[in-house]
Amino acid sequence: MSVPRPRPGILALQPYVGGEHKPPAGARLRANRAVRLASNENPLGAGKAASAAYLAAASDLHRYPDGDSRALREAIAAAEGLKAAQIVCGAGSDELIQLLVKAYAGPGDEVLYSWHGFLIYPIAARAAGATPVAAPERELTADVDALLERVTDRTRMVFVANPNNPTGSLLTASELRRLQAGLPRDVLFAVDSAYAEYVTDRDYEAGAALVDAAENVVMLRTFSKIHGLAALRLGWAYGSPAIVDVLNRVRGPFNVTAAAQAAGVAALADRAHIEASRRHNAKLLPWFSEQLRRLGFTVAPSAGNFVLLRLADAAAAQSALEHLKAEGILVRAMGGYGLPESLRITIGIEEDLQAVLDSLAEWKERR
Ligand code: PMP
Repeated sequence: MSVPRPRPGILALQPYVGGEHKPPAGARLRANRAVRLASNENPLGAGKAASAAYLAAASDLHRYPDGDSRALREAIAAAEGLKAAQIVCGAGSDELIQLLVKAYAGPGDEVLYSWHGFLIYPIAARAAGATPVAAPERELTADVDALLERVTDRTRMVFVANPNNPTGSLLTASELRRLQAGLPRDVLFAVDSAYAEYVTDRDYEAGAALVDAAENVVMLRTFSKIHGLAALRLGWAYGSPAIVDVLNRVRGPFNVTAAAQAAGVAALADRAHIEASRRHNAKLLPWFSEQLRRLGFTVAPSAGNFVLLRLADAAAAQSALEHLKAEGILVRAMGGYGLPESLRITIGIEEDLQAVLDSLAEWKERR
């Protein structure tokens, strides 16, 4: 029997697997509730103003959203000192990544990324029929020379997450500029700064200045992390007028819901919540990393809202993951990222992180 068949390569795609939400039935909950540290969500939740704006949107559910996300783009532009006309909003930065790849790469083209970079890049490349090309890293950090060496005349775009998920590593402002400067002008450079707001290192640039200086750069940002709005799916891109024009042609006419737009505007105005989220991470990320090291664990330095715990091998990582899970503590396995000996743990509230430390200490003792 003949059936509709998708384009070549689609059925070979390994879909993205998100973090687990629920502990297994029968888990002995160490913290009397599930401890969810698998998806780099904001442990303080959304701000009150954003939640109120979301609820207020309920009275207008019969209306289509503003397809142009104008008020939101203007709020982003004011908060970041950018031009609203060069901003495009999306249903999460995920949507914008997919749209960029679909618009700029197809069969026969290469999409370059760093080996332990965010997994959506190779998935989006394959979905578009393009070939993902991974450049090796140095000490779990994107290697600018290795990336530049892998540029061919088929390379259409390069993705770098900075800070990177899941390694937490950071490229300095000058390294980012060196990468851009070394790329052919017709290769699109996507700087994914999903975790920009958490960076405390002074030698950092999220990408807006690069966008202003070069026509082949686009910066991606999200409301899922510092603003705590992951459920609403809201992200934005800042690019040259030409890139923005392309995104506006390929996106759905109403790709961002009215509730997400309203909550986004309120979140940007809620400086207190942004600051509290930033301070929480700046305090607990070094504390948690240090506590893990004191227990004898190896932790990669992180500039994000998570740490990468490096265990002896894949079996040890699996064993620790299962031990935590059995106590209702959910962290992320890293096999899909080529790091099967590692676990990624989001910086949660202190009580949750203490539960992780206690649980891991016990796991270590038992082995
Ligand atoms: N980029 C990076 C580096 C991420 O870690 C994530 C979320 N895990 C995203 C993009 C996507 O974020 P969202 O679609 O929620 O905006």
